[in-house]
Amino acid sequence: MQQDINGLPWMSPATKQQALAKLHGIANKIGYPDKWRDYSKLEIVRGDELGNVDRARKFEFDRQLSKIGKPVDRGEWTMTPPTVNAYYDPQMNDINFPAGVLQPPAFDPKSDAAPNYGDTGGTVGHELTHGFDDEGRQFDAQGNLRDWWTEEDGKEFVKRASCISDQYSNYTIIDDIKINGKLTLGEDVADLGGLLLAYLAWKDDTRGQNLEPLDGLTPEQRFFVGYGQSWCGQTRDESKRLRATVDPHSPGKYRTNGVVSNMPEFQQAFHCAG
Ligand SMILES: [Zn+2]
Repeated sequence: MQQDINGLPWMSPATKQQALAKLHGIANKIGYPDKWRDYSKLEIVRGDELGNVDRARKFEFDRQLSKIGKPVDRGEWTMTPPTVNAYYDPQMNDINFPAGVLQPPAFDPKSDAAPNYGDTGGTVGHELTHGFDDEGRQFDAQGNLRDWWTEEDGKEFVKRASCISDQYSNYTIIDDIKINGKLTLGEDVADLGGLLLAYLAWKDDTRGQNLEPLDGLTPEQRFFVGYGQSWCGQTRDESKRLRATVDPHSPGKYRTNGVVSNMPEFQQAFHCAG
């Protein structure tokens, strides 16, 4: 990402310096927290779901209240280790990958590098890019809401980001419902930036290696298939309609097609017409 930022023709050295400070300030949290949370005071009773939920909510509420007046715990996670997901937190400036997302079918240690970079590499790049999307870019390396962009560079960012929101606003989710490209902008930017970074990282990691086709697919094709497979899924029509209004993520189909249609590397890999 440092290489990527340094290579941006439109960003001034002043903003680049701030961006790199932010990049180097990002904490990488992988697998599970350094310190386990103490649940010993939470009472779980077999056969009493309502009571369990009630006690668990009170337990969590008290935990949140007890933070008041204390320093921020930068080791805290807001996802549990088995969660199959990942996140960037702008106020903590950290990227978090629970153990659950670092296993097959996402990350497969037995697989060759290409699909792992397409899938998990894309996820890592996605969370990194969140630090610099329309929301994340408003926070600095310490997680403070502070504008560190020159006015001109801020305008250039908005101009470029609007290409993405215009692109996604053209995609139909169901019936006559289209993606709200302003709602999904941060996620769409993170998807594109993420896969670009994953591709750069994969090429860097395998430089000088003679990568062979496997299962009838070239390494480049396997990279993109790995990415596409991470978004396979089924959603009911009712859920599609609901999510169109509230979910900041585009549907999986466009998280795939919207990204690869912006990558000449994909066009090359699959010999698509220009
Ligand atoms: Zn995201």
